[in-house]
Amino acid sequence: MPPIDLAPLAARLPARPLTRFAPSPTGYLHLGHVANAVWVWGMARALGGRVLLRLEDHDRGRCRPAYESALLDDLDWLGLVPDVGAVAAFRAGPSAFRQSDADEEYERALARLSSRGLVFACDCSRRDLARAAGDIFDEETPYSGRCRSRNLAPGPGRGLRLRLDHGIERFDDARLGPREQAPAAQCGDLLLRDRLGQWTYQFAVVADDLRHAVDLVIRGEDLVESTGRQLLLGRLLGRTVPPVFLHHPLIRRPGGEKLSKSSGDTGIRELRAAGATPPAVLGRAAFLTGVQDSAAPLAPGDLAKLFGGR
Ligand SMILES: [Zn+2]
Repeated sequence: MPPIDLAPLAARLPARPLTRFAPSPTGYLHLGHVANAVWVWGMARALGGRVLLRLEDHDRGRCRPAYESALLDDLDWLGLVPDVGAVAAFRAGPSAFRQSDADEEYERALARLSSRGLVFACDCSRRDLARAAGDIFDEETPYSGRCRSRNLAPGPGRGLRLRLDHGIERFDDARLGPREQAPAAQCGDLLLRDRLGQWTYQFAVVADDLRHAVDLVIRGEDLVESTGRQLLLGRLLGRTVPPVFLHHPLIRRPGGEKLSKSSGDTGIRELRAAGATPPAVLGRAAFLTGVQDSAAPLAPGDLAKLFGGR
């Protein structure tokens, strides 16, 4: 049984839908990335669609050119070929599909929001945010609204936030079914640019999915809670037809914890060095993300079969 019923999904998409593989070069590729790639390439091929490769290096502090070139090498080695955003073009220089080359695009998107009076400057430190939240603070702590009416001028040391009104966002996840989320209650006014002047993941990814005309977003379940705020932001940026979202299972260690980039034993470089073949790595990733019953080797050309394609 394929993990997704293709026909109803295809009915929600254009004839040759565009999806994307969008890793961040903040470390080396690991099995978690390959599991996502199995879903992205497999679904794209099963649907007769296309894969865009986008490099999400919005976090200048954590991204490294060495990680980017290693990532491109590993994709080549695995035989995963994008239809848009060729590996060779990334190696050659600036690209419309690399976030650090897209400053002007983000400035334009920001101006669209600012012109509607939706953006304000915020000088809250992590400590301010924690204090406002009763010292319980993580990425999902809602913003207190402290700077909403302070009329701070934008500038160094100040972030930019999007004013979010209360409301419910509804979407029909291609795997998880109908969902409802309340972004203003979940996260509060959304950070678009941080205090260091870096575009945030939430802002960059929505601006990118719009400018790249991505129809289908296939990503791990850890991002499902971000979907409502991204739908809302996309609409405010002028998107009329939202992408379809598909959130797939994350792969986990035997103890149940999420894999991280620091997990040396699941790094593609390490597996390559230990003599693993590309089909062995793809097969193992497909098994760990639940789309194959065993870790049997899998050729890149056979990914569509996992999803009911040919
Ligand atoms: Zn603030």
